[in-house]
Amino acid sequence: MRSPADDRLDSLPVRRVGRSGLGVSALSLGLWQNFGDAAPADDQRSLVLHAVDSGVVHFDLANNYGPPPGSAETGFGRILRRDLAAHRHELSISTKAGYRQWPGPRGEGGSRGYLLASLDQSLRRLGIDEVDIFYSHRFDPSTPLEETIGALDTAVRSGRALYAGISSYSATRTLQALEIADALGLRLTVHQPSYSLLNRWIEVPDDSGRSLVEVAAAAGTGLVTFSPLAQGLLTDRYLDGVPADSRAAKGTSFQRQYLSEQNLASVRSLRDIALRRGQTLAQMALAWCLRDERVSAVLVGARTTAQLDENLAALEAPPFSAKELDAIDGAAVE
Ligand code: NDP
Repeated sequence: MRSPADDRLDSLPVRRVGRSGLGVSALSLGLWQNFGDAAPADDQRSLVLHAVDSGVVHFDLANNYGPPPGSAETGFGRILRRDLAAHRHELSISTKAGYRQWPGPRGEGGSRGYLLASLDQSLRRLGIDEVDIFYSHRFDPSTPLEETIGALDTAVRSGRALYAGISSYSATRTLQALEIADALGLRLTVHQPSYSLLNRWIEVPDDSGRSLVEVAAAAGTGLVTFSPLAQGLLTDRYLDGVPADSRAAKGTSFQRQYLSEQNLASVRSLRDIALRRGQTLAQMALAWCLRDERVSAVLVGARTTAQLDENLAALEAPPFSAKELDAIDGAAVE
């Protein structure tokens, strides 16, 4: 067991999640990749403890993170028990259910049976009594939304989760979910969408005539956004080819077509803007997501403590000038 750094909780800026009392580090750590059984347990432990030492207080998981599914929660639970048991109350831990977790009709989606059974399994793997946030990981068109949101309500009322969230729901679906939640007396505290310099769908109005950013802000729902580095594309990682240890080389979630000449030219231009600001591209990409106070936190992934340190330093970035924002808009190709 190792004791975390004494000054950790003063190290990073904290933002409130929407209109709630939940405060999270503006930069928080996601355990989607680099935390499955294939990643050495010592590396996982170093990353998590380094994050905690550095002031990260929010860790994002899901039932299916691994591989195999569940192993990220099991590994994180081990670290919690071994090193952080006395500090559990300082941390906000989230999990989700929505993607395929076990065979059969009850093993994915948004049904009441799946969501609550999965949450119970997540709690067992994590070795804790409640998570801070439980998300419906995705909208399930084959389940009435009333049932999915009702299951989130049960999760909160039964004490298995402190806050409820939805992930990747469109503005239209979010409006519907908010109405159902209101009728139940449930607050949808947080929405978790993808968002980056190269992926701005949350700013664009959909059929409802409103963007997700507007809908969430009006409802007091915080945005905790994911893949701010476009899985590594918005870093220096791919400017000289595809490194053997990179996500693109593994070929699981990072599609090679992201590395088109057009995208790489855009990334080079963005890197030049970042350098003129005295930052790395990764740091500028993170600071850009956080320029809007309606973003409560950015969930970043990191494979090494060096990557994490570089990313955390983004929080020291100077504010963007209008000219810089224009230059970024001109360089970023969605
Ligand atoms: P990022 O866009 O931050 O990508 C992380 C990857 O980028 C790393 O694995 C690493 O790739 C590379 N990287 C990170 N920092 C640096 C750096 N400083 N320099 C160079 N390369 C760097 O986020 P993720 O896609 O990992 O998503 C973050 C989190 O968001 C997830 O862990 C998860 O919690 C959440 N998420 C939620 C989803 C949902 O549906 N709700 C979906 C996806 C993610 P490499 O390994 O190649 O070095």
